[in-house]
Amino acid sequence: MRVLLLEQNDFAEGTSSRSTKLVHGGVRYLEAAVKHLDKEQYDLVREGLRERKIFLHNAPHLAHPLELITPLYHWVELPYVYAGLVLYDLLSGKASLGRSRLLPASKACTINPDIDPQGLKGAVSYWDGAFRDSRMVIALLQSAKELGARLLNHTEVTALIKENGKVVGVHARDRIDGNEREYRARVVINATGPFADTIRRMDDPTLAPLMEVSSGVHIVLPARFLPSPDGVLIPKTRDGRVLFALPYLGHCLAGTTDRPAELSEDPRPTEEEIDYLIEHLNGYFDLKVRREDILSSFSGLRPLVREPDKDSTASIVREYVTERSPGGVLTIAGGKWTSYRAMAEAAVDQACEMIGHSPVPCRTHDYPVVGSRSPRDEILTLLRGSGLDQDIIEHLYQHYGDQSPQILALAETEKAKARIHPDHPVIEAELLYALRHEYVRKPLDFLIRRCSLGLLDLQAAKESLPAVVEIMIAELGWDPTFTESMEWEAYEKLR
Ligand SMILES: Cc1cc2nc3c(=O)[nH]c(=O)nc-3n(C[C@H](O)[C@H](O)[C@H](O)COP(=O)(O)OP(=O)(O)OC[C@H]3O[C@@H](n4cnc5c(N)ncnc54)[C@H](O)[C@@H]3O)c2cc1C
Repeated sequence: MRVLLLEQNDFAEGTSSRSTKLVHGGVRYLEAAVKHLDKEQYDLVREGLRERKIFLHNAPHLAHPLELITPLYHWVELPYVYAGLVLYDLLSGKASLGRSRLLPASKACTINPDIDPQGLKGAVSYWDGAFRDSRMVIALLQSAKELGARLLNHTEVTALIKENGKVVGVHARDRIDGNEREYRARVVINATGPFADTIRRMDDPTLAPLMEVSSGVHIVLPARFLPSPDGVLIPKTRDGRVLFALPYLGHCLAGTTDRPAELSEDPRPTEEEIDYLIEHLNGYFDLKVRREDILSSFSGLRPLVREPDKDSTASIVREYVTERSPGGVLTIAGGKWTSYRAMAEAAVDQACEMIGHSPVPCRTHDYPVVGSRSPRDEILTLLRGSGLDQDIIEHLYQHYGDQSPQILALAETEKAKARIHPDHPVIEAELLYALRHEYVRKPLDFLIRRCSLGLLDLQAAKESLPAVVEIMIAELGWDPTFTESMEWEAYEKLR
């Protein structure tokens, strides 16, 4: 098949760069499966665990196992949670990432000083995966491009083209240069996450909604707030939420909230949501987070599937849904990051069926993505010979894997070894690489989603903006008016 991907903003600018960044089978579904003897929830965990393994196998430079410690404050919870997590391990089988451990209270606090010792009865640790979400999107896009896919960001689908009631393509508008074009296709797949209903209703405005959204907020704190390499998880706060403090690129990522929300292309954390997180982090962990400690915060919209109407054509494949609209738009929505590959497989199989093509065996069970095809040690040895600082070497490998030598080559030929910001390991050559190979069209495409600086430290991103813009002017030939509009938009979004 020949594939065209259209994204109205930057790649990964939606929910996919705003997640908790865990690759997980879903311990919570397991609890529901056992409590209610629910086969569907059980299958969901099995699928999640299988996908977790494939995820870590296909992107080892971006995803890795992470030990998570659950502190427990009631004796009765200890055997209950431990038994549940042992079952989680057993279900993982060969895909297990490590064994769950029962930890005495004193040991749990020594391992992770964030755990509140007051009233602590013990803890249970277990393993899941952690990953860099926006980089995973880029690695997947590069892998698709390698196989011939055409990828356009900042290009919005504005309408569907219909002939004899059947959808045969889309109208799209480039949001940066304003150009409009038609693209024809035998199948149009709607994979727009929280926006799925907007596209479905371009086909038939009377369709009942399939999706609802809820917002989840995270904050980023300096490394001192998580002094150990594992994460801490409170499985159920008093108001029934999950609370995490996780290590992320040398920082502490903490979250999350869960509130009904309006559909938005740029969801922002509210003051109330930030206060909620500070209060709960300080209440449940041995932390003293103050507002001024927060380096950055972000909000994402969960694409949640509603129960379909009885007479609708939608079928819930576990937590995600596939549906064909009357004109033939194939929607795939819901799910979680961990199951992205299984969702893609389901959508492609249906697309094959729609064009009368017998499905070909899926290849992505064992398909290392771009960046993960050379051994880590080989790349690190090569980078170490460059004379770059150790933090830059680590940063390059963690973001670009085996593509890092290309950045190194640019750093040397273009004399672009300088840091973009003195406190962060991002160098100018990365921006050149991202402009030439990673579809960067706006300053924040780079600062937030390619090099992570804006995700980790908002103030540093603001301070880096002039240097980034200067390089973009030189590379892309921006005129002063256009430059001003790009800068204005970036500052607005960093507010
Ligand atoms: C707070 C939070 C934490 C999470 N944590 C985890 C986790 O730890 N692990 C996990 O597995 N999952 C997690 N998830 C779930 C996971 O992030 C999402 O399921 C996943 O990212 C959804 O991807 P998507 O591609 O469906 O949607 P999105 O990433 O939102 O992508 C849809 C894209 O479609 C584009 N679009 C919309 N309309 C148009 C149009 N007209 N033309 C062109 N493009 C359009 C949008 O701009 C958007 O970029 C979390 C979700 C949230 C909100």
